[in-house]
Order: sequence, then C-alpha cells, then structure tokens
Amino acid sequence: MAIIELDQVGVRYGGVQALTDVSFTVEEGSITGLIGPNGAGKTTLIDTLTGMTSYTGSIRYEGEAIDRWAAHKRSRHGLVRSFQSVELFHDLTVRENMQVYADRHGIRNRIRNFRKGAGTDESIEEALDLFGVGWTVDRFPGDLPHGIQRVVSIARALVSRPKVLLLDEPAAGLEAGETRELAEHLRAAVEKLGVTVFLIDHDMDLVLGHCETVHVINFGRWIASGTPQMIREDPAVLQAYLGAPATVPAGSEEGAR
Ligand code: ATP
Repeated sequence: MAIIELDQVGVRYGGVQALTDVSFTVEEGSITGLIGPNGAGKTTLIDTLTGMTSYTGSIRYEGEAIDRWAAHKRSRHGLVRSFQSVELFHDLTVRENMQVYADRHGIRNRIRNFRKGAGTDESIEEALDLFGVGWTVDRFPGDLPHGIQRVVSIARALVSRPKVLLLDEPAAGLEAGETRELAEHLRAAVEKLGVTVFLIDHDMDLVLGHCETVHVINFGRWIASGTPQMIREDPAVLQAYLGAPATVPAGSEEGAR
C-alpha cells in the first residue's frame, strides 16, 4: 500500500521552477530512495512532504490529502525528517537531545526544563540501541566522533515514533563501512518499528544497494522510478548523470529487497 502519493507536485521559488509535475508513490514499510544531480530538487521535495514550502499539485498521506496541513501537523501525524547537518545541541547529553525531539510540541519549554529532571523515555534507548549507539546516551555530542553524531541525529528522529522517516543525505560525511552499518540499522528500524524510510543521498552505494525502489528527478522533473537494477540501466538516468554509465556505479545489491 502506498503511504505517500505525490500527484503533479510543483514548486516555484521566484524565477526558479524547482519542481515541475512530480508524481510518484512511496510504499509503506519500504526503504525508498530519491536521487538526482545537484540542484535537481531533492531537498525541495522533502520540504513539500514536511510542509516547509508551498507547492502546487497534491500530496496524499495514508490516503488523505494533506496539502492544507501545516508542518507541525504533518510531523505530529508521523511525517518526520532529519536534516543534512547534524544539529545536535552540544550542551545537552544525547539523552536530553532525544528528549527535546520527543516532545516536539513545546520545544522551548522542554529545553528550559531539562535540568529539572525530565523523565526518561523508553523509545530513546530503543532508538539508540537500534542504531548501535546506546552507549552514547549519557555523553555530550561534542565528545563523540562525527560519524557517531550523525547516527545519533538520525536515531533521534525515531524517538517520536514516526511513520515515515524522511532522511536528507544521511550518509554525508560517513565512511563506506559506516554507511553500510547505517543501511543495516535503517532496515532494522523498518522491520522492528514498522517505519517507512524515504531518503535522498548522493551515495549511490547506499541508495542503489539498500533501497527497494528508487525515484529519479532531474531539473525538477521526474525521469525514472524502479528497482536499483532498473535505475542503473535506465537511459534517461544515465544521461542525467552526465551521460556516463560509470557515474551510476554498480554498487552492492546486498541488503536490497
Ligand atoms: P543538492 O543535491 O545540491 O542538495 P537538490 O537536488 O536537493 O540539490 P534543491 O536544494 O531542492 O536541490 O534545489 C532545487 C532548485 O531550487 C535549485 O535550483 C536551487 O537553487 C533552488 N532553490 C532551492 N531552495 C531555494 C530557495 N529557498 N530560494 C530560491 N531557490 C531555491
């Protein structure tokens, strides 16, 4: 079943047409990827899903049109994103960072009240354990390596128990081994928590190696959808990536479903 359906979605920023008539679906319980060259409109597309930019066309979520839903309503209903930058609060421990994210309705009050001993949340340890970083819970982010901070920031997005996790370049700055582990952890999140993962990334090993379905946009327009194998061989995709097949590397199919 499709949990997200985009129908002719378009975004214009002044004179820039960032997205034009983009239509595709995201299956519930899948890891779905979105790729496209620089400036293709990938982040803009996530912004349309989270309600952070206005758009034309329509988006359905769990079968319901959400075009009139504000960003906070979308997030409360389980459409949750992570950002390209890590964005952890460095003067709060990892646990406290997770608590901030868990209570998205009163974020300022929550930060103020932290040191007074806000209760722990089972979902915090569960999310950290799922990503193999449970040991960080009482550390400060600044004391952790960058790769670990990034994984913590992704785990943090799970603490509010999203239905759909929207990840903007989760593998940015990760080593190849770390990216592989991240993909395994995302698969565990899908299987254990039933979350749907929609990610954009330039790391082709992550996208083509670990997503069941991949959508491709270029210059704001949809150009292809399919399995990683279909995408690797799609002439329009190869042309978008400078017409050179080598720019869409073979990658590993391990872990792909
Ligand atoms: P990258 O892979 O480089 O991160 P992207 O595929 O995520 O790129 P977007 O960031 O969505 O692409 O940008 C799509 C187009 O919209 C680009 O031409 C970009 O310059 C433009 N754009 C994005 N945000 C804005 C904005 N707030 N105002 C004006 N133009 C914007």
